[in-house]
Amino acid sequence: GQTIGILGGGQLGRMLAVAASRLGLNCHVYDPAPGGPAAEVCAASTTAAWDDEAALRAFAGAVDVVTYEFENVPAASLDLIESLVPIRPGRRALAVSQDRIDEKQFLQNLGLTTAPFAQVDDATTLDAALSRIGAPAILKTRRFGYDGKGQARIMTPGDAAGALAEIKDAPAILEGFVDFSHEVSVIGARGIDGAVACFDPGENRHEDGILRETIVPARLSASQRTDAVLLAARILTALDYVGVMGVELFVTPRGLVVNEIAPRVHNSGHWTQNGCLIDQFEQHIRAVAGWPLGDGARHSDVTMENLIGDDIDRILEIAGTQSAIHLYGKAEARPGRKMGHVNRLTGPAAR
Ligand code: ATP
Ligand code: MG
Ligand code: MG
Repeated sequence: GQTIGILGGGQLGRMLAVAASRLGLNCHVYDPAPGGPAAEVCAASTTAAWDDEAALRAFAGAVDVVTYEFENVPAASLDLIESLVPIRPGRRALAVSQDRIDEKQFLQNLGLTTAPFAQVDDATTLDAALSRIGAPAILKTRRFGYDGKGQARIMTPGDAAGALAEIKDAPAILEGFVDFSHEVSVIGARGIDGAVACFDPGENRHEDGILRETIVPARLSASQRTDAVLLAARILTALDYVGVMGVELFVTPRGLVVNEIAPRVHNSGHWTQNGCLIDQFEQHIRAVAGWPLGDGARHSDVTMENLIGDDIDRILEIAGTQSAIHLYGKAEARPGRKMGHVNRLTGPAAR
């Protein structure tokens, strides 16, 4: 069978590898850190730096297609891999999602609504941005942020200097604060034949900048639900995308505002493992392997709860007998670290 190369060795890579294994495919994971969650379940793994040319060449030579569970792989590594083997989803999706300014520009060019934003490089451009956008606002690093890291809130203009220091003067974006009622996400998939299939939107609740819970169905009107799915499809098609993508949305009285996109399987799509016949991981592997997409219709209402840090110590209590348990095999439970999740079925899906 085919061998799928996976860049990044975290829990998303692990769950992709498990799905691939069920489809009779092999996986080879590449990650700079040894002993991550994915390597344990893959037949082959490479531990080497992102700029190790010999290791990248050997990896690319050993696989039929490369995908990623981590979107911050350096461009030079991807150039080398791409000269040897296809990368799915393609480079454009990665480039757009690696930089918050390119991402917002891309989304606005598609006619979608984002938070108002401005580029910030120093105190002067921050002042100009603040006078245009106003407070409250959020200063975020353009690149490498996740789980709310690399962000500082600016409640009044007096917070500007402190915010810039907090993100260590990195190239940044100032975003106007979106007054949303709740957050939802759409997990969308596009096959190599251009077919698009979106999972039902989930409602996301964050704590301390980290996803805590995803609940399906999300609180959305029929027209909001349609809007959410259609805008995800528009993004997938514009990028000539192959694979699964997460699209994070703010729900506001004036419509849906796109927060960010993730060119990979997404934490807010973990509920699909127990709420759908075909989950996001199988859907992604099908797409990158060039197979037709499966039917991701939701059969159950689900609450997905992340197990963060010490939560893992109470896993049996949290899960009870009514939740499917998904653990990532991480040795050490550090604060803020995602250790696993549980999916609780809360009833059959309304039809
Ligand atoms: P992730 O782990 O999802 O990749 P991230 O570090 O990339 O997170 P964002 O998704 O940009 O961060 O922001 C984290 C959370 O902060 C959002 O889910 C939302 O709750 C809040 N937030 C971000 N941007 C805005 C905004 N412009 N207005 C209001 N709230 C925001
Ligand atoms: Mg993000
Ligand atoms: Mg986010």
